[in-house]
Order: sequence, then C-alpha cells, then structure tokens
Amino acid sequence: MPKEDKPHVALLASPGLGHLIPIMELGKRMVTHHDFHVTVFFIASDQASTTSLLKSPKLENLDIVALPPVNISGLIDPNAQLVEKLLVIMRESLPSLRSSISSMKFRPSALIVDLFGADAFEIAEEFGMLRYVFNTTNAYCLAVIFHLSGIDDKFISEHHVKGQEPLEIPGCKSLSFRDTLDSLRDIDCIDRPKFNGNKMTNSHGILINTWEDLESSTIEALRDNNYLGTLLNVPIYPIGPLVRQDGNQVLDKQVKLWLDDQPIESVIYVSFGSGGTLSAKQLTELAWGLEQSQQRFIWVVRSPSNNALGTYFTIGENDGDGTPDYLPQGFFTRTKDIGLVIPMWAPQAQILSHPSVGGFFSHCGWNSTLESIMNGVPMIAWPLYAEQKMNAAMLTEDLEIAVRSEVSSTDEVVGRAEIEKMVRTIMVDKEGEAMKIRVKELKNSAEKALNKGGSSFNSLSQVAKDCMHHLLA
Ligand code: UDP
Repeated sequence: MPKEDKPHVALLASPGLGHLIPIMELGKRMVTHHDFHVTVFFIASDQASTTSLLKSPKLENLDIVALPPVNISGLIDPNAQLVEKLLVIMRESLPSLRSSISSMKFRPSALIVDLFGADAFEIAEEFGMLRYVFNTTNAYCLAVIFHLSGIDDKFISEHHVKGQEPLEIPGCKSLSFRDTLDSLRDIDCIDRPKFNGNKMTNSHGILINTWEDLESSTIEALRDNNYLGTLLNVPIYPIGPLVRQDGNQVLDKQVKLWLDDQPIESVIYVSFGSGGTLSAKQLTELAWGLEQSQQRFIWVVRSPSNNALGTYFTIGENDGDGTPDYLPQGFFTRTKDIGLVIPMWAPQAQILSHPSVGGFFSHCGWNSTLESIMNGVPMIAWPLYAEQKMNAAMLTEDLEIAVRSEVSSTDEVVGRAEIEKMVRTIMVDKEGEAMKIRVKELKNSAEKALNKGGSSFNSLSQVAKDCMHHLLA
C-alpha cells in the first residue's frame, strides 16, 4: 500500500449541521495548523445549507466525500429518538464508507468519528487505522453519558421522572432533573442514552470541542482513575473551541447594511439552531416580548411546531417565502425600525461577529454557544432538545454569561413579560454588563488555548504526533 509523506486522517460526520460544522472545522484546523491531509466523509442530503457549507472555499489537502443517503424507514420505529435514528443511519452507511476507504490510493492512517459513528471503528480495525472519537459537544455531556452507562438502574430511577433526584456525578456538577436528557424524562420507560460507549472506549482517544480552562474540573474527572477515567479508559484531548469562521458565510447585503447602521452591541440575535422550532403560542409570546423590550433584534423565524426538533432533518437555507403569517398582526409594521426578521436560516457566524450584535437569544446548541463565546456575546438560554438544558445550566450557573427563565421552555409557555425582562437584562441592565465582561474573558481564554503553545493546540499536536508515528510504523 503506498504511503503519503504526511498523516492522512478520515473524519466521519453524522447527519445534522451541528455535527458536520465542527467536523469540517476540525478538518480545516488539522490541515492548516498540523499539516495533515484530511478526508471528510458525510452522509449526502439535499439540504441547501449543507450544500453551501461544503461549497465554502476549497482548501488544499482537505477532500470532501459524500456517502450516498440511506433509507431507514422499515428499519426503525418512526417515533424513535433522534439518537437512535442517527445510530441506524450511521450503521447503514458502513458499506459505502468501507468501499470508499478501500478504493483510496493513499489510505488514511486514522479514522475520527463523532458520537454517533463509533460502529465505523470496525472498518478502521480492518484497515489498521487508529481510531478516535470527536465529541462535538462539551466535556460535561460526555461525563453524563458515561456516568449513566456505568451506574445501577436504582440510581437512574431515583433521578428519572419518578424520583427527580439530582444525579450526582463524581467530580462533576450534579445534574438536576430539570436539565436531564430527554430520554430520562419519559414517564413510561427509563431509557439510558443509546451511545456506543463500549466502542468509544475501544479507541485511541476522545477529542472534545472544549478547552482545559473552560471545564477544568470536569476534564480532570474524565481523566481521574478513581472513577470516570476508568470507565473511559482512553486519553482525553480538549482541542476546542472549533467554531465556524465567519468568512465562509455570505452576509446578505440587506442584513449587512442594516447591521452596519445600528449602534455597537445594540442588537440581539434570536435563533434556535439548525432545527429548533417553537409552538405557535410560544412564537407569539416571543414576538410580543421582543417588541415590548424595545431592543433592536434580528430574528431567524420558522413556522411553529409542537416538536422542538421540527426541522432537524429538513431545514434548508432561505426556504420559505419571506413573510410568516404566524406572527402577531402588524408585528412587521410596528417593529420595522428596530427589527429584522429572516425566514428559516441565517449566516449565524457572520451575524454574531458583527460589532452591532450584543446579545444572543439561543437554544444553547454547543456550536452556537461556542460561537457566542468566541464573539464575546452574552446569551439568553432557551434550551430545546438533546444536551441543551445541561449547556444552559453551565452557562447560567457556572459561567454566568447567560440568563434563563425558571419556566421550562419545552414544557410550558414563557410569557411576553418575562421575555421582555430577559432581553433587557442582557442588553441594558448592569447584570448584562457584567456578563459581557465575563464572556469576553472567556473569549480571551479560548484564543489562548487555540494559539500555538496553548492547551488545545498542544492536544491536537499530540494526536498529530501519534498519527505520524502510526504512519511510520
Ligand atoms: N446555523 C446557522 N444559521 C442558522 C441556524 C444555525 O449558520 O440559521 C449554524 C450555527 O452557526 C451553528 C450550527 O448551525 O454552527 C448549529 O449548531 P448547534 O450545535 O448550535 O445546534 P444544532 O443545530 O445542532 O441543534
């Protein structure tokens, strides 16, 4: 088998922009800072936003390969949890991944998969490749997943909807029932999160999209051989924050002109990730709350749905026709001088990096959270699905860079008065000023970690060295 003179790594992304975006950023960083050749595999979809992401400026030594879409109807209950669907899609994609890797002239020396792709390690073993997991969310989420996989049912049932006791995780923040994973909130069944924990521990390491100083005690717990460290039993590499660079997105001329006209840090950006949606009632309250706050805003609006994950698999860039009919009557007219509504999808990284933006009303997806931190923007935490409630707890209780309603944004409707108050807190009040200072400190700490010699730079350099040794072996 011919060999390259630089380590070649294959990255495998599971469906969903929240997974593909950080995988692409990892690939770019490996190429530009650590001299890798990288091939990114992803499952093809016709989502316009995916297509535009992959069209972004080409980089030498970064190849992108679309694996054919798979049809999972008939293989899984249509009402199954998203995690289960993703695992089945990834398993069904193994034959095309195998044939694609086996036909490569220069076979990669390592395979890096996200949390849903560990089944592909069987292919890495077949081809003698190193195996890594890239956890695209934070260290805390990883600690919760592994803790849940290792404990007795009795502890889960105390925490589960029947007991509602906080889940104590040695060395980490305890997990309150309010913030727990959706699978543990089902009254009828205790459902441990279905990740391939044992396959992940059969890897050469877990890369995490975080940095040492952000989650130092949780990272220490993940390495501690008294408990979590023995469950994981692999090296932990905090290599983040890897976020989408604004240069890859095109800011619509109208949006740019509008933002350019606003005073510095005066605009709150409102968006719920690649698939988040609100109920019709909640959408109405949000509209009134924004209007009553009298703050400037950019709002990425989607039609209402009672499923918070309404558009996860179907979102497209610039879908929709512009004027949503589900907002309060006269909303556009009344807010025309202070607000901009963008249907469905907006170039988020570009908007957050604009100097006029001073707040982010967010569903707390981890990519959105990191993008907010990297632009020094405080947040209103409005978690919807997956691990977002845990992220919201971290942002409000530990990092103190966000406000959050006491009312659960997925179980009840948060009223307009409270929304107005939260917006004014981060945009106008002293409390918001203090958050701004803290989030800017975090931005500096993140940049330090990423710079040459910083903790995240060094972690990724270690992975690069291991791949190089493997190549030469
Ligand atoms: N995103 C975007 N425009 C939108 C919505 C989302 O560019 O209108 C990007 C956002 O910048 C982030 C990603 O999509 O990089 C969403 O990832 P996140 O982890 O925040 O949430 P998820 O979509 O996975 O729930």
